[in-house]
Amino acid sequence: MTNPVNTSSDKSVLTFSALNTFRNCPRKYKHRYLDCLRPREKAEALSFGHVIHGAIELWYQRVDDINRLWTVLEYIDQQYPEQIGDDRQKTAWQLARAMFTGYAARYPGEDFEIVEVEKSFTGEIRNPDTGRLSQTFVMSGKADAIVKLADGMYLLEHKTASTIDANYLDKLWTDTQIALYSFYLRQLGYPIVGVIYNVLLKTRLRQRAGETEGEYDIRRAELAAKNKSGKTTAKRQLPETDEEFQARLAEWYARPESFHREQVYLSEDRLAMLQDEVWEITQQYLDARRRGKWLLNTSNCFSYQRPCEYLPYCQSGFNPNVVDNLYEIVLPHEELTPVESEQPIF
Ligand code: SF4
Repeated sequence: MTNPVNTSSDKSVLTFSALNTFRNCPRKYKHRYLDCLRPREKAEALSFGHVIHGAIELWYQRVDDINRLWTVLEYIDQQYPEQIGDDRQKTAWQLARAMFTGYAARYPGEDFEIVEVEKSFTGEIRNPDTGRLSQTFVMSGKADAIVKLADGMYLLEHKTASTIDANYLDKLWTDTQIALYSFYLRQLGYPIVGVIYNVLLKTRLRQRAGETEGEYDIRRAELAAKNKSGKTTAKRQLPETDEEFQARLAEWYARPESFHREQVYLSEDRLAMLQDEVWEITQQYLDARRRGKWLLNTSNCFSYQRPCEYLPYCQSGFNPNVVDNLYEIVLPHEELTPVESEQPIF
């Protein structure tokens, strides 16, 4: 089953997400983009990032609207329709609201001018040695935003992260996606000189559940045993109310370190190397497709601090029952969402 998205020139669209998936694990590429398998349970982290991404997009589309914060909060509310009855949705909803309210307070105005929000592009792929155009593919993508500072244009790239440390910032250098986007956007007339990473920290705070009667009895007995009198005045810890939890979240997101901006200049050498990389990967893909060989790269099964979503399927030796139980087939037209990383490719 192939899943091409054809352009007017009848070439198939290649996005960074597909390119990267194929490079990291050809078998994963096959599962995701050829067999169209998606886990029934969408990873919570991905889904939260998607909501925040949509919220920031709205925020910058409405820079002249004095009510834009309410518009964004309403958007967040709509993303969690089960926030009353579903605990997971309720938690994510509270976190998203607190994060964005904190973001709006932290950046009420900006020192950059917004040039574009969610800028799509499509460009040719070329053999860097011969200059010949790919007859099979064009490259496509969507940048979060393009902004203008005094010294030139930058991509504004939104990220949610659990920690922002030296490792995290070092890794930004390896961000091939951004270099690739800059390369193509320059061809469209945007003289991109660098990237501003707009990082929003995800808090680990959770609403306190309080003690059950049994837990309280055990704790009280332990405390009493430590006292000479054999008694204790300890009270049962009650569940944290929504208001208390939201106040704690607001306090957390009022801290300056909850948000971070990192400005990185593009390396011209890196941009030149990229063209080579893209061409080579497309050739490897064509070879794999011709021979029907989709290798497993098992060193990639536990990247990104979590197991690959196809691990149960690969572990089962591609048992069709595992597919029936854990995955659904997402048809191509359903995948054409505004989020670039969700688009089908090749
Ligand atoms: S589980 Fe490992 S081998 Fe299988 S698709 Fe994922 S990364 Fe590839």
